[in-house]
Amino acid sequence: MKAVVMDGVKAPLVVRDVPVPEVGPRDALIKVMACGVCRSDWHLWQGDWSWVGLSLPMPAILGHEQAGVVEKVGAEVHLIKPGMRVLTPFHNGCGACSYCVSGDSNLCERAGRRTGGFAQYAVIGGADFNAIPLPDEVSFAAGAAMGCRFMTAYHGVADRGEVKGGDWVVVNGCGGIGLSAVQVAAALGAQVIAVDLDETKLSRARQEGALVTVDATDANVPARVREITGGGADVSVDALGIKATMLNSVGSLRKGGIHVQIGLTSAAEGGQVSLPIDAMVFSEIEFRGSLGNPHHHYRPMLNMVVSGKLNPESIVSERIALADVPKVIESMGNFGTVGFTSIEDFS
Ligand SMILES: [Zn+2]
Ligand SMILES: [Zn+2]
Repeated sequence: MKAVVMDGVKAPLVVRDVPVPEVGPRDALIKVMACGVCRSDWHLWQGDWSWVGLSLPMPAILGHEQAGVVEKVGAEVHLIKPGMRVLTPFHNGCGACSYCVSGDSNLCERAGRRTGGFAQYAVIGGADFNAIPLPDEVSFAAGAAMGCRFMTAYHGVADRGEVKGGDWVVVNGCGGIGLSAVQVAAALGAQVIAVDLDETKLSRARQEGALVTVDATDANVPARVREITGGGADVSVDALGIKATMLNSVGSLRKGGIHVQIGLTSAAEGGQVSLPIDAMVFSEIEFRGSLGNPHHHYRPMLNMVVSGKLNPESIVSERIALADVPKVIESMGNFGTVGFTSIEDFS
């Protein structure tokens, strides 16, 4: 099968023929129908996140936002059958640890990180738990987006941010996750302020439901947000993970506000950013991490997609072929992509 192969950190990505992956007794093999190219793929290609113990054995096939059709299943798979349309979260759950059984499968003790989506076929390990049926009404591109960026934004906004109607919500960084967060917060009835340096991305944010946009190029973002909201936002999301967006986000909150950290840092921060702790204590600001989306929260999210209240497909701005992946990943170093870039041609 054809796949985009990574031979080493920052080494040129190449499209070549590799064997179709083996299917273990609890696995499913899917024919990949769509796979998003996510900023996390770029981070892994850069060798980021070694500071949290994340590094891939080489050679590796990146790609963790895939949806497809089940081709075959292992002998111990009972619920997932060949021919089913499925998506899968980027975080594999074991289905048996205390986190998985209490519903927090995104925090699984034995979590595996999904890879292998930049290929014609991919394996979903522990398929009965980790393959999520994709309703017929939902496209493969939308399903792929719900493997990582869209579902990550959903969990960050709806669960960790506890966003409700009428809240002022700031979204810092309007890449794929940021635009998704804008859409989800607006669908929940919040008043959304989108912040970015790029007018194209801010214009996309307005299309996804942002009430106000702030160009951070020259603005003092916290001061501007306080002015717009009359004292600060209820919830603020850092969808990017650099020092500036994190500090702008925390500084934009009203007393008692919730900061949701979705973006992971890059080499410049190496996982460490100083925060204004005293100001956060005096204002009872909460700092919450948000990772992926627990498996059982797919149900409400998919319900909202089927009923049209959420629309991951509207954030797909480019549909590409497998052969285009290397240049798209390389362009992510200078934030060259807008919305979701989705591979739909695997020939
Ligand atoms: Zn587990
Ligand atoms: Zn991702």
